[in-house]
Amino acid sequence: MVRVFALCGGYLDLDVALFFPDRPPGTRWTVPIPCYLVVHPAGRLVFDTGVHRSAAADPLGRLGERRARLFGVRSQPGDDVVSQLGLLGLGPDDVTQVANSHLHFDHCGGNEFFSRSTILVQRREMEAARDPEVLKSGRYRPSPQDFDHPLDYRLVDGEHDVFGDGTVVLVPTPGHTPGHQSLRVTAGKGSELVFAADACYTRENMDRDLLPTVVWDAEEMSRSLMALRRLRDSHGATLYYGHDPAQWQATPRAPAPLA
Ligand SMILES: [Zn+2]
Repeated sequence: MVRVFALCGGYLDLDVALFFPDRPPGTRWTVPIPCYLVVHPAGRLVFDTGVHRSAAADPLGRLGERRARLFGVRSQPGDDVVSQLGLLGLGPDDVTQVANSHLHFDHCGGNEFFSRSTILVQRREMEAARDPEVLKSGRYRPSPQDFDHPLDYRLVDGEHDVFGDGTVVLVPTPGHTPGHQSLRVTAGKGSELVFAADACYTRENMDRDLLPTVVWDAEEMSRSLMALRRLRDSHGATLYYGHDPAQWQATPRAPAPLA
């Protein structure tokens, strides 16, 4: 049986207009950075590793000038993926696989601690994150200081069945970044959970069909959003949004199981 735990990967404060471009800029709110642990009989997968644990104490050093201006780190001690695993009596070495939805700083900040895990990233995402032309364009700003460590990266192309039995599947949802992926889990009693990550920040973005400000390819992102909506509305999946404060408030978190 597959179980899932929600882990707190930190909190960021940012302008609401980054999420909802039709609102006037100038109002900030604090959003969660969820990560998830999936426990399967064949291994343990962590989906996204949050913001680096040192970012709260040293935002400028960790995030750089531009990001430190856009984002306030509001994490409390313990709001990081390694501490959260500790709530379950686990450490990074107990994690067989890590998957990054994408390589923005708030999704791969804890990668460096998983030196004994296989790290699953879409090939398109990694290639774009290392492409000087892409970096020069400024349309995609990956975070090398978070992901560029000597880790066991395994690049995947398209859908990837993590444990080979169809219960834990990475699904490409490109658009926010070139190779963004989401995670689909069939947990106990057949309930279907889909972790959108930044393919959809909040329920409001989904319900209003509203793309955020940070977009690599709007057409692709709209298609990904539509595919996720279909999973939610036609297949009965429970959709977990990437940075939804109201949903996070209502989500059971580690050490309590989510499913
Ligand atoms: Zn994000």
